[in-house]
Amino acid sequence: MKPPPFEYHAPRSVAEAMEVLAAAGPEGKVLAGGQSLIPLLNMRLAAPGHLVDVNRLTALDTVEVEPGGVRVGALARHARVERSAEAAAAQPLLRQALRLVAHPVIRNRGTVVGSLVHADPAAELPAVLTLLGGSVRLARPGAVRDVPAAGFFTGPLESAAAPGELAVSAFFPASGPRCGTAFHEVARRHGDYALAGVAALVRLDDGLRVTAARAACVSAGPVPVVVDVTGHARADGWAAAARAVAERAEPEDDIHASAGYRRHLTGVLAERALREAALSAASGEER
Ligand SMILES: Cc1cc2nc3c(=O)[nH]c(=O)nc-3n(C[C@H](O)[C@H](O)[C@H](O)COP(=O)(O)OP(=O)(O)OC[C@H]3O[C@@H](n4cnc5c(N)ncnc54)[C@H](O)[C@@H]3O)c2cc1C
Repeated sequence: MKPPPFEYHAPRSVAEAMEVLAAAGPEGKVLAGGQSLIPLLNMRLAAPGHLVDVNRLTALDTVEVEPGGVRVGALARHARVERSAEAAAAQPLLRQALRLVAHPVIRNRGTVVGSLVHADPAAELPAVLTLLGGSVRLARPGAVRDVPAAGFFTGPLESAAAPGELAVSAFFPASGPRCGTAFHEVARRHGDYALAGVAALVRLDDGLRVTAARAACVSAGPVPVVVDVTGHARADGWAAAARAVAERAEPEDDIHASAGYRRHLTGVLAERALREAALSAASGEER
């Protein structure tokens, strides 16, 4: 199918893009990598009156390591962030997750910020941003706001980005010393959206005791589910912590898998991810 008619805009500056979007209001949609939006348009599941193509806004094609974390501009493609050694050094979970996003051709076009705004509960990056306690920067003419991940994902394919707002960047906090991360998932075919997936973060003290252990689940509810399992890990070990993660997941049946199977997978993947994150925290090396 072909998309419904729309007016196409190709602003040359961030200021112009914000003006066009603000004028379009609820009728406006940002076109970034187009890897999610174009299929939605072609299937006529979205019918915006105005499409605002941000691909000429090179000022937003940035990956910057700031004190405390990595700021990814709205035009930075998955592939660019995945290949950034500086970003991976500051926050290894970014690269660990991006390797699992779709196929290389899709990662060459799709953007990190586009994936966050798209807010697919089966996507890796919303889980990563929520696990790390990151944020998304939203702008409209004369106003900028940073929305914490905990309040950014409001439902399946729903985010806090309001009509007329441009997401200009996302901030992924660094994890710091004695901290390890890992991401494990299962998909029916390589590159497909995951049936289940778990990102884990473990922090140890100098005596290698667990001071923090958290996991974020993919495809386990309408928005990313983050579970703090520090107490379980300290008292009963990683298997008990993983069971606690699986219990908090709220997967649904669909044509690909039953809810019960997804919950089982979530528990298995949680144990793998938590153990790997702990090993990485202890050794200081990424697995
Ligand atoms: C075959 C296939 C497999 C895939 N597999 C996966 C997968 O396994 N995991 C995964 O996470 N993703 C997967 N994707 C999706 C891919 O990662 C997309 O690139 C990503 O979800 C959206 O990024 P985009 O830049 O293409 O955004 P677009 O498609 O351009 O936009 C997506 C949505 O976000 C909005 N938007 C984008 N940028 C902004 C902005 N700066 N400000 C405000 N709104 C904005 C758009 O208006 C639109 O509503 C897959 C896609 C395909 C086609």
